[in-house]
Parts: sequence; structure tokens; C-alpha cells
Amino acid sequence: MQFDLKKFFQTGRVPYHAELQLDLSDYDFPGYQITQPVTGTFDAALNGEGVVLRLSLNALAQAECARCLAPVEYPCSLEQEWLVRESELSNEYQELPIDEAGKLSVKELACEELVMEIPTVLLCSADCQGLCHVCGKPKAAGCTCCEGGSTTPVDERLAILKQLLN
Ligand SMILES: [Zn+2]
Ligand SMILES: [Zn+2]
Repeated sequence: MQFDLKKFFQTGRVPYHAELQLDLSDYDFPGYQITQPVTGTFDAALNGEGVVLRLSLNALAQAECARCLAPVEYPCSLEQEWLVRESELSNEYQELPIDEAGKLSVKELACEELVMEIPTVLLCSADCQGLCHVCGKPKAAGCTCCEGGSTTPVDERLAILKQLLN
């Protein structure tokens, strides 16, 4: 979706409002995907200084847990506001994705905001114990082969410590 910001400076006497439904499934997010449509709103309104842009988004990121590879879903809601002055439109250092014709890519803006909001490393739970070194199964899924046995390096070292203490 393109929003003609340049034109809005001339004709935007009435605030602009749009309900968003964005398909971002083909966007290359770092470490996760967003396969379901992202919903939200986009608003633009003139005030004395320039155009106030407001974007709100609801997205569901999908990834694999960085420790145990289990599927993880990360719901994300964000709201952001910008003030753009007319003199800034032609500024090549403009932080918003606005092209030379003064059109704002709302989709690109949504992607950039989501990238900043969603962590690149996602975990199924904050205390995920990852995979067992012995059997390769998630420890949380009831792996018992390392409990109390002498199969892991940690246990071996503890055994040596015990001998030294004796
Ligand atoms: Zn995990
Ligand atoms: Zn195991």
C-alpha cells in the first residue's frame, strides 16, 4: 500500500484513516516468519507543523525455539507515531520509506517497525533447557537419560571432584 504523502500536504484537509490487512509472508524477517495477515490501522492528519502519521499493527511471528527447535509463536502489537514536515519530504536521509515522488510505502514501514519490535532470538519459554546432549530430545519433553546418571561430562567432573574430596 502506497500513501501519497506529498499530495496529502496539499489536499489533506480531512484526516486519512485506513484499516490494514498486510500480507508479509514473503518478507525476509531475521529469524522468524509472519505467515498470517498483519492487521492494524494507518492514520494521517495535518497539524500546524506537518503531517502526523500513526501506525498500529497486530502480528504473529512464527519461529523455532533457538534452544530446542520447538515451534514458537510470538504475538506482537505496536503503535508508532511520526511527524513529517513538508520540507523533509525530499530529504534523502528521511527515516521513513518515502520515494522521490513523495509516496510512503506503508507495507515497508510496517516491516521495518516489526523488525525493530520482534526479537531475532525467540525461545519457547524463558527457561527452556534445550536439547539433551545424549539423546537429542528436548529435555522438557521428559528425557530421563541424563538424570542422576554418569553419562554427561558435568556428572563425570562432579564424580572426580567427589573422589578428590574423599
Ligand atoms: Zn525451547
Ligand atoms: Zn536425554
